[in-house]
Amino acid sequence: MSLPLRAVTLYHYITRGNSMGASRRGGTGRIFIFGIDGATFDIILPLVEQGKMPAIEKLMKEGSWARLSSTHPPMTPSAWTSFMTGRKPENHGIFDFTNNEMTGPRYSREFVNSTIIKCHTIYDVLRFHGKKSLIIGMPMTYPPFEVNGALISGFMTPGDYCDYTYPKSLKAELLVRFGDYFLDPNPHTFDEFDEQDFIKSCFPSDQSKVKAARYLAGVHKDWDMLTVIFSTVDHIQHYFWKYLDPFHPAYDSEKSEIYRRTIEHFYVRHDQYLQSFLDGLAPNDTVLVVSDHGCGPTRVVFNLDNWLEQNGYLKRNRRIALKNKVKSICRGVVDSMRTSLGFTPRKWKELHGRVLYGKTRAFSGYTSEMGLYLNEKGKRPMGIVSPDREYGALRNELISALKEIREPKSGERIFDWVRPREDVYDGDLSKLAPDILFGNRPGYAVYPSLSENLFDYYPVISGDHEPEGIFIASGPAIRENCEIESAHIVDMAPTILYLMGLPIDGNMDGRLIDEMIRGDYLQNHPPEFFCYTDLQKRGDEKCSYSEDESQLIEEKLKALGYL
Ligand SMILES: [Zn+2]
Repeated sequence: MSLPLRAVTLYHYITRGNSMGASRRGGTGRIFIFGIDGATFDIILPLVEQGKMPAIEKLMKEGSWARLSSTHPPMTPSAWTSFMTGRKPENHGIFDFTNNEMTGPRYSREFVNSTIIKCHTIYDVLRFHGKKSLIIGMPMTYPPFEVNGALISGFMTPGDYCDYTYPKSLKAELLVRFGDYFLDPNPHTFDEFDEQDFIKSCFPSDQSKVKAARYLAGVHKDWDMLTVIFSTVDHIQHYFWKYLDPFHPAYDSEKSEIYRRTIEHFYVRHDQYLQSFLDGLAPNDTVLVVSDHGCGPTRVVFNLDNWLEQNGYLKRNRRIALKNKVKSICRGVVDSMRTSLGFTPRKWKELHGRVLYGKTRAFSGYTSEMGLYLNEKGKRPMGIVSPDREYGALRNELISALKEIREPKSGERIFDWVRPREDVYDGDLSKLAPDILFGNRPGYAVYPSLSENLFDYYPVISGDHEPEGIFIASGPAIRENCEIESAHIVDMAPTILYLMGLPIDGNMDGRLIDEMIRGDYLQNHPPEFFCYTDLQKRGDEKCSYSEDESQLIEEKLKALGYL
């Protein structure tokens, strides 16, 4: 059932003022949001059955839950931005880790940050109503922006040296209070990846967030909404999925003896963090547990740019490819010499420009984009595809061909679906998205790689994002023991505003998930709608990462297999 949208005028709303908020507030108390990036019910439900996640189990029994549909692509920046804004990527402008405006002969692209989000967030709406927000670790909140309360930015913050808090003075306050604050686990590369070292470096990052959240809740006792998002479950799944998957080509039975339960340990630990927060809440507070997407195995990699080259759509820059190959051989020799002399290996930068764009009709997006671009004349710096008939014919040809691609060993199709952009996005900013989008079948990943093989069977990233995350809600307005059939991440913001007793933003794409609201509560508190216009237009004050910051982010994202 969807509710009719009833926009009220600003005058109407102001004349009713805060008294409306106050009278509704009596039922729902404060909102506590516990985010576990990448969490999936595929791992949680068996652990709940075994009694290993008692906090989650209790919330599911006492409340409602749903498998939460993510954005396409199901990636951290687009999905958490949809969580914060209640809008789809084509309306908030974040599709992936990079913006899609390609510049220069190398088609350079910038990494996204909070200033590129084109609309306001729920935190701006709360500020408008004088409600206090505490936000810890939310991806896509760097650079930090003004909130009524406090903010510590999350994933996509370049490094610990940055000013990652609002107010700015909070960073120094945290360092004085705790001695340190760890944004992310240790940086690393695949070549240097050490399981034990990585596991150990996740703890300080998680614990920093727990400590900061408790500290801020103590300082701002009058908070209305507390959001804390943890990232390490996502990261650990990327690297350790192969140890719990005996069918994975990179399964190693000896190492699996040691690491089979690592992912489980992370989920159990997050359940303990959750319980520690629940212990500090009041009985009429509402708790939401959310993830931005799920996770599943990646067993086979399809190298899309290689396929495009083999089929005459893309021209490889052999000169750069050769230079990179020579560099990589030299790197191996020099690194081993440095290591034997007791020095740490130096950082090596891969040369960009592996594609000759002036002779290329189609090229793939990054791994995380799940799409490919046509090199359209007038739109791309060295475009050669005419925007009229040639564009349409080429796109249809590619869609038909991609649908038929099969993995030779199993004979399976690798794509679940392949569609033109306008079949996936319908908002104002759709033109920024890739021209063709696809959904991979479970177990397959598509890389923008020009490696020698069409298929690779030993992906370094063994767990990758799936489009279904988690959502659990429990509180005085929430129905008990209720599984909701369908919920989307864009539904979170309208539902949160309703639970806070505030008018829902009529411009949001999402809906109030009214199936999970108790009938008597819904009857006594009919939802109201309001068009909050331009509370915060971040797109107008766009700022870019410096070259060094971009490099730090690029290394981090490469290590996680997104680029
Ligand atoms: Zn994520």
